[in-house]
Amino acid sequence: MHELTHFIDGKMTPGTSGRFSDVFNPATGEVQSKLPMASADETTNVINRAAEAQGNWGATNPQKRGRVMMAMVGLMNRDMDKLAEALSREHGKTLPDAKGDLQRGLEVIEYCIGAPQMLKGEFTDSAGPGIDMYSMRQPLGVVAAIMPFNFPAMMPLWHVGPALACGNAVILKPSERDPSVPLMLAELFVEAGLPEGVFQVVNGDKEAVDTLLDSEIIQGVSFVGSTPIAQYIYSRACANGKRAQCFGGAKNHLIVMPDADMDQAADALVGAGFGAAGERCMAVSVAVPVGEETADRLIDALVPRIEKLKVGPYTDGDDVDFGPVVTREAKERILGLINKGVEQGAELVVDNRDFSLQGYENGFFVGPHLFDRVTPDMDIYRTEIFGPVLSTVRAGSYEEALGLAMNHEYGNGTAIFTRDGDAARDFASRINIGMVGINVPIPVPLAYHTFGGWKKSMFGDLNQHGPDSFKFYSRTKTVTSRWPSGIKEGGEFNFKAMD
Ligand code: NAD
Repeated sequence: MHELTHFIDGKMTPGTSGRFSDVFNPATGEVQSKLPMASADETTNVINRAAEAQGNWGATNPQKRGRVMMAMVGLMNRDMDKLAEALSREHGKTLPDAKGDLQRGLEVIEYCIGAPQMLKGEFTDSAGPGIDMYSMRQPLGVVAAIMPFNFPAMMPLWHVGPALACGNAVILKPSERDPSVPLMLAELFVEAGLPEGVFQVVNGDKEAVDTLLDSEIIQGVSFVGSTPIAQYIYSRACANGKRAQCFGGAKNHLIVMPDADMDQAADALVGAGFGAAGERCMAVSVAVPVGEETADRLIDALVPRIEKLKVGPYTDGDDVDFGPVVTREAKERILGLINKGVEQGAELVVDNRDFSLQGYENGFFVGPHLFDRVTPDMDIYRTEIFGPVLSTVRAGSYEEALGLAMNHEYGNGTAIFTRDGDAARDFASRINIGMVGINVPIPVPLAYHTFGGWKKSMFGDLNQHGPDSFKFYSRTKTVTSRWPSGIKEGGEFNFKAMD
């Protein structure tokens, strides 16, 4: 059995705890490797090593740090196919999706090339007589990034890139489901010129995470994952005096107004609802047609599109729409929720509960499902299913549709499909959700904007990537300096002779 490693001081380093977690190929259901789970002692050692490496890196000028990012972009492009294949093999997503995962991470690394510009301070000349005031942005020191399984390249890169660009050392704790790409990326960073020890990868579970959260050396914690864990990490990191940003789950609503282009709305819902098997924090999992007639037309447009979706392993090529979900437990949980939806009275319009793929009977495949007449009290509405399941909640009016999205506990993303500019503008202005699409189903902001939800989708105040990330990973120091005037009469400086 292939044994994976940590990445410590620039090298793939075997674990010593004796504890392992299985890494599956979700398409076949087979264990493909064993991942070491770091002990508290191993984690503490890595933290100490990172602290040693950080000093020189933090003192490196930002332009040199930007050049490492530039080299990293070249290396990721060189290895794109290899990285995508490794990603699909552990995650299950299709190869085009895996490349998208890498590409959206790469764009943040490109953004980080601009570190010198982003870290420029501010200066006030003559704030008082002989007094100047300036502020500079300095690294936090050693920071930790604890990441989810669903974007094993993009999520780590969104955090590791800006953290390094700001001069920090970073300890990444990837998901135990798909750790290979993060390890490969760490190796590429060293090839790109990053000094050894500045970027460490520790694989593990709660034991490693709690060690990071309790360490006095770690100054900042970034977390992305499910809401209960986000809340836990945020409170423990804050209680220990750390800066923290923790991004949680989602239940994204797409509102379809009566005047929407129905083909466009249905295409958008199918892509955003079922792409990557629904395992995206920006997946649309709730469609809200406004009015019975709109709802009937929407269901008529959705059903044939969903029935045409091809589910399969990434090795079947580009015509596969989505692959398996990540684990057997995830599959069972999703099917359990679907059954609950039926029991609680929702109409299962597309039912693939008996879906099985010939030759891949042990794989974690779940076929696409469409529910109609879902109501807000049902479990399938309240819970983030994180699978290929789209729920339709019929709303009687625009205000009712808006109220549904506003009252849901999650606030990551949302969208409205309409031809009415006034309605779209009203929606964007009033909705209490962090990322909004207007006739765009997955409104993921680009690298130079910031990404983050509201309500229970985010704990903390600074978002991922864009200018917020440079603020999160650096801190401000403000210097006030006064040089008493030495100007003599006649404009000559009164230099004292040096003895
Ligand atoms: P998860 O919460 O199970 O795991 C995330 C990380 O936390 C992993 O590294 C895991 O090892 C660690 N972890 C899990 N349990 C822990 C515990 N008890 N103590 C300490 N650490 C623990 O999430 P996941 O299943 O990997 O990812 C899917 C979730 O991530 C979904 O809810 C999705 O919406 C969310 N997500 C959110 C965003 C966002 O930006 N808001 C982006 C991507 C994914």
